[in-house]
Amino acid sequence: MTSIGANQAEFRLLGYSRSQYVGHNVAEFHVNPEVIAGMLSRLKNGKEVRGCAAPLRCRNGDIRIVEISASVYRENGRFVHVRSVSVDITQRTIEAAAQKRLASIIDSSTDAVLSKDLNGTILSWNRGAEKIFGYTADEVIGKHISILAAPDRIDEFPDILGRIRRGEVVEHYETRRRTKDGRIRRISLTVSPIRDAGGTIVGASKVARDITDQSELAQLQERLGAIVESSDDAILSKDLDGIIQSWNAGAQRLFGYTAEEIIGKPVSILAAPGHVDEIPNILSRIKRGERIDHFQTKRQAKDGRILTISLTVSPVRNADGIIIGASKVARDVTEREEQEAAIRRANDALTRANADLRHFAYSASHDLQEPLRMVSVYAELLRERFAGQLGEAGDQYLTWTLQGAVRMQKLLASLRNYTQVVTTGAEIEREADSNSILQECLVNLRDSITETGATITHTDLPPVRLHEFQLEQIFQNLIGNAIHYRGPDPVRIHIAAKQQGSDFLFSVSDNGIGIEPQFHETIFDLFQRLHTTAEYPGSGMGLAICRQIVERAGGRIWVESEHGTGSTFWFTIPIHKSRK
Ligand code: ADP
Repeated sequence: MTSIGANQAEFRLLGYSRSQYVGHNVAEFHVNPEVIAGMLSRLKNGKEVRGCAAPLRCRNGDIRIVEISASVYRENGRFVHVRSVSVDITQRTIEAAAQKRLASIIDSSTDAVLSKDLNGTILSWNRGAEKIFGYTADEVIGKHISILAAPDRIDEFPDILGRIRRGEVVEHYETRRRTKDGRIRRISLTVSPIRDAGGTIVGASKVARDITDQSELAQLQERLGAIVESSDDAILSKDLDGIIQSWNAGAQRLFGYTAEEIIGKPVSILAAPGHVDEIPNILSRIKRGERIDHFQTKRQAKDGRILTISLTVSPVRNADGIIIGASKVARDVTEREEQEAAIRRANDALTRANADLRHFAYSASHDLQEPLRMVSVYAELLRERFAGQLGEAGDQYLTWTLQGAVRMQKLLASLRNYTQVVTTGAEIEREADSNSILQECLVNLRDSITETGATITHTDLPPVRLHEFQLEQIFQNLIGNAIHYRGPDPVRIHIAAKQQGSDFLFSVSDNGIGIEPQFHETIFDLFQRLHTTAEYPGSGMGLAICRQIVERAGGRIWVESEHGTGSTFWFTIPIHKSRK
């Protein structure tokens, strides 16, 4: 189609002169041949073209977008020419495209972008806003912005709107907002005034970024940093070449170097002579991803002191999981090591002393028996032969000698018992049957039971992890004492046992003279007695023996008593084999 004319505006638009335009095929001016071909084919088919956007090439090479409307003019059914009107829509098209781009940028933003009028009514709402706050655009547009307020931040809105009205921009304002499902998020806000074409402020645009995770991370990092700094242990990090990267106050205290002095230096500075080789070894283990736990070694402080250190070294990885260095926690165990050595020495000495003492007690109790028997045998012989011839005083002396010998024999027997208890370490093969052992004890104590008319009752008793002779010792001593330290009333003794947690709890109760509270502890000590032999004969060893047995079995023994009304002795024996 050939152009046969155009108005001045058209020439101005395209920059051609009348002669450059008129007489040319219109297709020459079109950038997009399909667009013009489409228009022409419509016209040929007798249809109109309405508002078809077409890019045209100007004389200077610029492209302009025009909106063409055209129709065929006929006279008496005959084609005369085509009338075409074009409007320049270049600017409108550019603006529309820019707006579209902007809208898609806003929509694809992970930040919430929204706008509101000066009353705080929400006018627009992007997908980021939907994601952060949980409301869809439909749910919030037209609502007041305060639906997003965290309960403690409701007062902020009038203030922000006031600043916007004054034309201020509120930048990176950190606050808290509430989501649709009630979660509180930390938000960084930037709010700017929106002006109309005349420059009047009509509303505000708001960009909100959810910084909850960031601020939690920052807080966590801060806290971790503070922990590292306040730690008593030396905490440092090094890269894979062993170059020190960080150094806390604990490290400075321990090794004496300041962070400035040591950061950037190789960690081998700290190795004590003879321990330098360890460092490449540690580094190669770290490179393999291994962790070194409580590795005891020697390091040297700045002032030359050699320290015993317990080291824990762990690989440090970057965000991709690649090992980039090592963190190291060093604890000074120099003092602990010295203390442990001292305790070991003291323990050895104690063990030796104890062994000596046991040996002495054992041999004393055995060796003294022989001469003691001689004393009693000859004293007895003296009495048989010379009784009545020694005068009254002589007879009395002999009686006392004999009584002393008997008492000494009893003491030695108790001492032998005691040494037997404390030296017994053999494994317990089978549990002791408490019921039958109690019966044996009652047989042993038959004379005193009959003599005092004591009533002894008991519950069913469980088997316990003790040697039989040990349990016999306990019952014998506790029941013997209950009879021995009887009060004015007929003797009543009750023995009971029950399970309590992982122990069996035994009790032996009497209605005897009782024990004053201040002696409740001491009576379990060796040779501790509350009475003279004249009042109540005894060795002061019975309860000490009981305590030895119970404690060696992993249990506890104690007394509850009121002076004058009786006593209950309690002891526990673990049900299961103790791991000691
Ligand atoms: P011993 O009976 O040979 O003196 P123990 O070690 O058995 O030695 O007892 C220590 C002391 O505890 C006794 O001297 C006595 O004073 C007191 N005692 C022990 N059992 C009882 C009891 N059932 N009632 C009152 N006092 C007791």
